[in-house]
Amino acid sequence: MRKIIFLDRDGVINNNNLYYIYRKEDVVFNPGVFETLKFLFSKGYEFIVISNQSGISKGIYSKSDVENVHEFMKSEFKKHGFDILEFYYCTHSPSVENCLCRKPETLLVEKAIARFQIDVSNSYFIGDQQRDVQTAINSGIKPILIDANSDLTNIINKII
Ligand SMILES: [Mg+2]
Ligand SMILES: [Zn+2]
Repeated sequence: MRKIIFLDRDGVINNNNLYYIYRKEDVVFNPGVFETLKFLFSKGYEFIVISNQSGISKGIYSKSDVENVHEFMKSEFKKHGFDILEFYYCTHSPSVENCLCRKPETLLVEKAIARFQIDVSNSYFIGDQQRDVQTAINSGIKPILIDANSDLTNIINKII
């Protein structure tokens, strides 16, 4: 069974000062991200990103823009000796269409749980918004709420 740290993306992994991040040039990693994830990886945790990307539905950017950003993130993480198991993201905007995958809905987490052998009771969800916390709670995963763009090393003692 895999112990997973579910991660929100914007505001947790990268700075979300821009409303939409869809170019790798705009990705600024938050302080402590590499150190924290590398440490947690060494303790047996793996990582899955769960992200709302409503800009796709709104036509602001494309799925391939998002995929490029995620490939860039994976390559940076690999330089530090770990990787992201999978990026799951909702492409929908409630202003355009309803769906079951936009956080606080839980479909993306459920997909991950169905695909990977996840030890839900020993997994965590780190987010910077209440909807992340709600997604975690509704999925039976322990939530960790952080301030947006804060130093991720602060969460280590909540897990280890
Ligand atoms: Mg966020
Ligand atoms: Zn959706």
